[in-house]
Amino acid sequence: MDIHLSDPRHDRLARSIAERVAERGGRARYVGGAVRDHLLGLRIEDLDIEVIGLGPDDVHAAVGEVAKVSLVGSSFGVFKVHGAPIDVSLPRTERKVGRGHRGFEVEVDPHLPPERAAARRDFTINAIAVDPLTDEVVDPFGGRADLDARVLRHTSDQFREDPLRVLRGMQFVARFGLAPAPATVAVAAGIEPEGLAPERVFEEWSKLVRRGVAIGAGLEFLRATGWHHHTPELAALVGVPQDPEWHPEGDVWTHTGHVMDAFAAARLGDDEEDLVVGFACLCHDLGKPATTAWIDGRWRSPGHEAAGVPPTRAFIGSMTNQRGLADDVARLVADHLKPDQLYQADSTPRAVRRLAQRVVRLDRLLRVAHADRNGRPPAPDDGFPAADWLREQAAALDVADRAPEPIVRGRDLIDLGLAPGPQFKRLLDACFEAQLDGDVTSVDDGLALVRRLLDDI
Ligand code: ATP
Ligand code: MG
Repeated sequence: MDIHLSDPRHDRLARSIAERVAERGGRARYVGGAVRDHLLGLRIEDLDIEVIGLGPDDVHAAVGEVAKVSLVGSSFGVFKVHGAPIDVSLPRTERKVGRGHRGFEVEVDPHLPPERAAARRDFTINAIAVDPLTDEVVDPFGGRADLDARVLRHTSDQFREDPLRVLRGMQFVARFGLAPAPATVAVAAGIEPEGLAPERVFEEWSKLVRRGVAIGAGLEFLRATGWHHHTPELAALVGVPQDPEWHPEGDVWTHTGHVMDAFAAARLGDDEEDLVVGFACLCHDLGKPATTAWIDGRWRSPGHEAAGVPPTRAFIGSMTNQRGLADDVARLVADHLKPDQLYQADSTPRAVRRLAQRVVRLDRLLRVAHADRNGRPPAPDDGFPAADWLREQAAALDVADRAPEPIVRGRDLIDLGLAPGPQFKRLLDACFEAQLDGDVTSVDDGLALVRRLLDDI
């Protein structure tokens, strides 16, 4: 197996580390995600190297011959190579002794048998090791076969020692289109999310959103393990009925899975954009559990867009305090039906400008609306005229990817001879409102309005 990092400089460095290790009588092996990704034919950006047969000082010295290096933590035997995304570690056993992901007793042992070193890894597909100098493969848990068969399987009973592994499983299922082994679902179902740091949880959800392909399957893994209950806002979607004509796919949970798959299929590859739009897709119907009722012979969810804002903030807020993300996502959730509604109502530029003012980014809203629309199999993809219309309107009004900017500014009022004071904000607000309505299109229009308002006082 001939594994290479995509950056040739990093690749050469990794190989020279392996050579320096060999010169001292040890062996270096590439392990973890790099091996898995190589087998999947994916680009390899970062690398974990495990060195066997050398003590920590020798490893430090060997790596130090070719790169600047620093020890991570105190005694876990992990070295970070400076200037390259390469970590070098020693084989170790980990034993759960306390709460949380730091509650492990770690024992570094250069002579640990490979199966024992691999047993602390979460999944078989992440527990394959390759010697880059001899190409020898060490695969004690059958990770290659599982990867070929697209199966997610835990390596050992130690799996239950770190609850984060369940969420890692969710995003691996989604990223690589894996089917979880029944035994893995069963083990995961017995794990409580005790002591999980919110930022680690957020990291896994972010990977699900940014990198998942079969995101619906990842969410199903969560449900199969009962772990969806640890995100109550999402769990509430299970079993919420929808009108079968509008939603032939089934309940809101099922719909959300399909919407995520549709989102993934149309991802931009821009991490920041994808994160906001992906979370908005995930949260778009969180208001349905509270609003769904049998009305006039159909299941309807009046006002579910606005009702979705509090659960959206609760879900995102439970993982991260990035206010910007919660705000951006909540805006999209609150207006996610607007493209259709404005189109049906044959709305004016004024309504489009006001929508742009609220959601800030109509391009993001359009991506959410598209995913929502496409997340309804087996409904045919027969175009989306509402989105086409809104895209054209947004472009014509220059609000496709930003909110309208006020034309009249404070300095214009000062130029008019007005002194800054409490009335400033009132006048500027009035100008901006008139601008959104299309009545003010230039500074002169705005100042004319200001003069009229001042005359009225
Ligand atoms: P990614 O592409 O998301 O980085 P990865 O498999 O490389 O996937 P990392 O978090 O970079 O994941 O970890 C590298 C390797 O370390 C994993 O492949 C796995 O063998 C091991 N590992 C990481 N975190 C855990 C964990 N919480 N439990 C068990 N093994 C883990
Ligand atoms: Mg990795």
